Amino acid sequence: MKHLFLILLVILCAGLTFYVEQHDSSLLTTGKSKVSDGPYYSGILKDEYQNVKAVANYDIKAELFPERKLAVVDEYLTWINKTEFPANEIQIHLYPNAFRNRRTLFISGRGGTLPDGSTSGIYFKEVSFEDKKPAQIKIIQPEVSDAFDSTAASIALNKTIMPGDSIKIHFKYSLPIPKMMKRFGYAAGRNFFFISQWFPKAGVFSNGKWICSQYHPYTNFFSDFGKYSAKIIVPKGYQVAATGVMKDSSLSESKIIYNFEQYGVHDFAWMATDNIENARSIYKRKDGSDILINAFVQPEHVKYKSRFINAVKNSLKFFEDYIGIYPYQTISIVDVPKTSLSGGMEYPTLITVGAELFSPVSTLQPESVTIHEFTHQFFYGLLANNEVYETWLDEGITSYITDKIAYRYYGKPEVNFKLFGYYPVFGINFLSYNELPLVYTLGDYKIDEGANSLSLYYQSPVCASISDTSYKLPDALSYTITGYSKPELMLLSLERNLGFNNLMYIFRKYYQSYKFSHPSAEDFIHTVNENSKEDMSWFFKSLYRNSSAFDYSIRYVRPVPEEPGSYEVYAERLRDGVFKLDVALYTDKDTLLQTWNGEERWKRFIFHTKNTVLGAEIDPFRKNIMDLNYANNSYIIKDQYAGSTSIMLRWLFWIQNLVLLLGSVA
Ligand SMILES: [Zn+2]
Repeated sequence: MKHLFLILLVILCAGLTFYVEQHDSSLLTTGKSKVSDGPYYSGILKDEYQNVKAVANYDIKAELFPERKLAVVDEYLTWINKTEFPANEIQIHLYPNAFRNRRTLFISGRGGTLPDGSTSGIYFKEVSFEDKKPAQIKIIQPEVSDAFDSTAASIALNKTIMPGDSIKIHFKYSLPIPKMMKRFGYAAGRNFFFISQWFPKAGVFSNGKWICSQYHPYTNFFSDFGKYSAKIIVPKGYQVAATGVMKDSSLSESKIIYNFEQYGVHDFAWMATDNIENARSIYKRKDGSDILINAFVQPEHVKYKSRFINAVKNSLKFFEDYIGIYPYQTISIVDVPKTSLSGGMEYPTLITVGAELFSPVSTLQPESVTIHEFTHQFFYGLLANNEVYETWLDEGITSYITDKIAYRYYGKPEVNFKLFGYYPVFGINFLSYNELPLVYTLGDYKIDEGANSLSLYYQSPVCASISDTSYKLPDALSYTITGYSKPELMLLSLERNLGFNNLMYIFRKYYQSYKFSHPSAEDFIHTVNENSKEDMSWFFKSLYRNSSAFDYSIRYVRPVPEEPGSYEVYAERLRDGVFKLDVALYTDKDTLLQTWNGEERWKRFIFHTKNTVLGAEIDPFRKNIMDLNYANNSYIIKDQYAGSTSIMLRWLFWIQNLVLLLGSVA
């Protein structure tokens, strides 16, 4: 009987949650469908227009034939040499060629699986210069020698392009659309096409050399800023989302032509489908100007429309308050279907997101990915670091800022245990299988900031340093740890050393100094050092340039014999990692602090106090979150334990830490 009651309760709760989520969609207020062009020119704030160095400009016409799974493309690339060096060639990415065969760098590095219908490639019909003379494309392998890889190429020029000169190249090609694997192709079972990393795109010419990376298995992309004008032609009944502002659309026979334009970006992606829900809303900047939020949501996710939009609004507000204003006229959100096998990803002024069938707000499931991808508009989009070489500058900073935004606006999310690759047993939530809710479990675990990163980091703390070149890392785990987890933990540690407001001030300076350019890690470190009271080089030496593990401990605290009021604290460094930290002595009335550069293997600290000593602790403010074992950081003088509330607080910390670890199992 008791069981029956519980089962009924479970069904009731499930129904209630479903109702609440369904009901949520009716609350959505769709704002104006267009924003005024007034403050903008070509999709970017007029004030920012002159800050962009437009180097690679594209004029593209792409027609999609959904039945044939094919796009036919006509593309003009105008490249302007804005450096001080002459250029004798142009290097371009041909990333659809990553799907040509199983042995490309990309596919072989990801296990060599390329299902039937998943092959693609760029098939040129014409490559020519402005005078119509044909241009020769030569496949190059600048980073990894691989005879099967053709994802980077060089075009020899018929003249040297001197500084200030430009060249125009015409590409005509067909592009078979594969069954979608990694954000390029069509989703199985529906007419949903997502087209990214799809066109011949110039590399970056810097200091007289081209940087044009092959398509590596795990790393992302790097290219130059410019202006994109694109005509996307699709059959009637199809909607299109793309990078930039949709200037207009027109009907011709059975087709629709959508015109997009965007200045000051470095890539272009688009989506076309015949079945999607569109919702629009406006974000008002403090100066009164509008940004259009344009959401495209899968029919089964209609209930999440307002949650996607609100996550972007909260992110826009956070950036406006702390780092800098989003300078573009629009931001599009594209929710991708499960069968696309693609989740969240960032493109200029367009992000992809995904959602589960059921996901209460407390889990922050679609919110977190939405905030993450939006945050990339700054760390990747506007601050366009080389993602292939220094992944952490976009992914690591984005992971850190994502948590800052999520925790500020939503609080701590509930712990998410994954089961059989499905989810979730946490909080008051569903245990589900194949997206079918089965049962509720009760609990109230909240996940702490950085906990997910910590759990990944613990899996392989010394695999590589954050400064290691990303594409050379051996596997997905080391890439994820050094690109995402360790940098987030490093930045959380930096926050604890400098303070939140100071760190945000540094991000603001970093943004102001390097927006619309290609900052490096050294530029970021330089910005930190320029804008903090203390030179933080020691910090980056420890946590950024080094892959050592950290573990400090207190072995004992005891009175110094024959020296009343003197106490000896014996601190040890148990692992290779060196970090500057505090040593605290707790008494019944106060806390005494000393600092240690952390370099010696061990050190004795002498404290003087007339109070009753309760214990000692190393790194009491957790300024190095990467310490592998906090359980040995404190030492309690046992016979005084019972009377000490501050020591009880220490114990609470362990319990909290344990919960945090449990919560991080994924
Ligand atoms: Zn990311």
